[in-house]
Amino acid sequence: MTSLLLVSDLDGTWLPGPGEASALAVLEAAVASAPDLHLAFATGRTLPAALEGLAAAGSRGPQTLVTDVGCALYLPTADGWREDPAYAASVEARWDGKAAARVLASLPEGILSQPGVTARRRLALQVQPGFDPGERAAPLGALLAAHGLAARILPSHGFYLDVLPVGVDKGFAVRYLQNKLRPCHVISCGDSENDLDLFRAADIALLMPQHHLEDGHLDELAPTLIRCTEPGPRGILAELRRLGHL
Ligand SMILES: [Mg+2]
Repeated sequence: MTSLLLVSDLDGTWLPGPGEASALAVLEAAVASAPDLHLAFATGRTLPAALEGLAAAGSRGPQTLVTDVGCALYLPTADGWREDPAYAASVEARWDGKAAARVLASLPEGILSQPGVTARRRLALQVQPGFDPGERAAPLGALLAAHGLAARILPSHGFYLDVLPVGVDKGFAVRYLQNKLRPCHVISCGDSENDLDLFRAADIALLMPQHHLEDGHLDELAPTLIRCTEPGPRGILAELRRLGHL
């Protein structure tokens, strides 16, 4: 039985800043020795990019790795990572790959694919310099409708525009894990717009001090939100200890 499901974003959250590698080691050692704790990471990165980031940080890695803003979920095996087939099928059922390819072939002005990113069951887009992602979401939405692609546009970090299957996001992955691991208490950690769904699905939301969220987003989360006072792994460790989980 798992009593705590800890789900963390990577960039700006679990992955340490310069000079903070030892803080990550301390946090991960404490988490690894906590009984009945399941550690999952939920990132906007693809699997190869997530593994690269974890290796660069010297991370021990999670028990579940959610990539592509919730569009894929991987489990560790003896020789690497294996995609969870049931999860993959549930996302696949919500995604029209052919319509997505048509959208990709006719992107509106100011929007392009994120360079070097092979997105899984989503479109990983970004705006060109000088364009506002909030403003570009409207013509992109019209294009999705024209091609019959039922999807949600999620702007983040001031330039990313992820196009996700309806209902699929980091929170979708949390609910899937909760179902698998129940009963459990969920703590999530994050710093940006694509973590809001992670926060909404959690009992406690740990927000990094250098976050990218506006007050309007945070008001909604007030009952469950805890603002870490220190950045990255140090902040997460301090709050998990204060809450009595480590
Ligand atoms: Mg982040």
